Amino acid sequence: MRCRKCPHKAVLEIPRHHTAFCKRCLTEFVCGQVERAVKHDKMFTKADRVLVAVSGGKDSLTLLDVLHTLGYHVAALYVDLGIGDYSKRSKAKVEAFTSARGLVLHVHELKEDEGAGINDLANLISRPACSACGTIKRHHFNRVAVEYGYSVLATGHNLDDEASRLLGNVLRWQTEYLDKQGPVLPASVDGFAKKVKPLYRLAEREIAAYAVVNKLDYIVEECPNAVGAKMLLYKDVLNRLEAESPGTKQAFYWGFLAKQEAEGGRTMAESDQAMLRPCVACGQPTTAETCNYCKMMARAIATKAP
Ligand code: SF4
Repeated sequence: MRCRKCPHKAVLEIPRHHTAFCKRCLTEFVCGQVERAVKHDKMFTKADRVLVAVSGGKDSLTLLDVLHTLGYHVAALYVDLGIGDYSKRSKAKVEAFTSARGLVLHVHELKEDEGAGINDLANLISRPACSACGTIKRHHFNRVAVEYGYSVLATGHNLDDEASRLLGNVLRWQTEYLDKQGPVLPASVDGFAKKVKPLYRLAEREIAAYAVVNKLDYIVEECPNAVGAKMLLYKDVLNRLEAESPGTKQAFYWGFLAKQEAEGGRTMAESDQAMLRPCVACGQPTTAETCNYCKMMARAIATKAP
């Protein structure tokens, strides 16, 4: 199969766009889609300092690589969840990646700062590890972005992540989460960093192909706690639909975004301004007196106490 843009051999077929690309044209395509998302959705400019949350996996390292290549001012944040060998290896990948490019890397260690890794913490408070992990990561992503004066926090969520999350929310009619499903969550109040998802126009397999052809050294295995996660089931269902009908994921998620925009729905910024206030314990924005992170940590400390 030939590349649709040049005479070289194609390395990836992209049925949803009726195209196929060689290594060079695939790299241009991925960079172009990221640039388009950043500009179209007014995520940030070359004057902004962008903090990229990285896990050591293909998505976040691709995002860091593409933004750095495009000339954006990026730094990385890694939250070490303390999951045995998996965390050690993913942290080593992130350290090697950022050091090779001369990028600033912030590291938050759960075992040092929260006193336990994610699995022990989750056991202490009798919550699923992934639910505790989400609360902890959101807290530290926002904290580091605000404390170090970054204009925006970027995460490596891709089209598959967003479409499967949307499917999960729709299946359960969790409409309260839908206004947070956009690729941009504005810095609506003081102490709340702007959050963006510049990979939302790209499917997981396109990002994986970019990472392989550009020889990015990422951790291939998933977090061990992901086994059995509902999101993997939703991704599998969407992948089967995509195989039968290319473009389904894109039509589902982008269609949702277009409908949301056309209806001029209440934005997260407006909802936040009405509800958020500083947490009495840590000062980060929350809708209650104490934020979920501080409640969780207080419960962990109380359970641990003799
Ligand atoms: Fe966190 Fe769960 Fe994802 Fe692992 S699988 S990184 S524990 S949310």
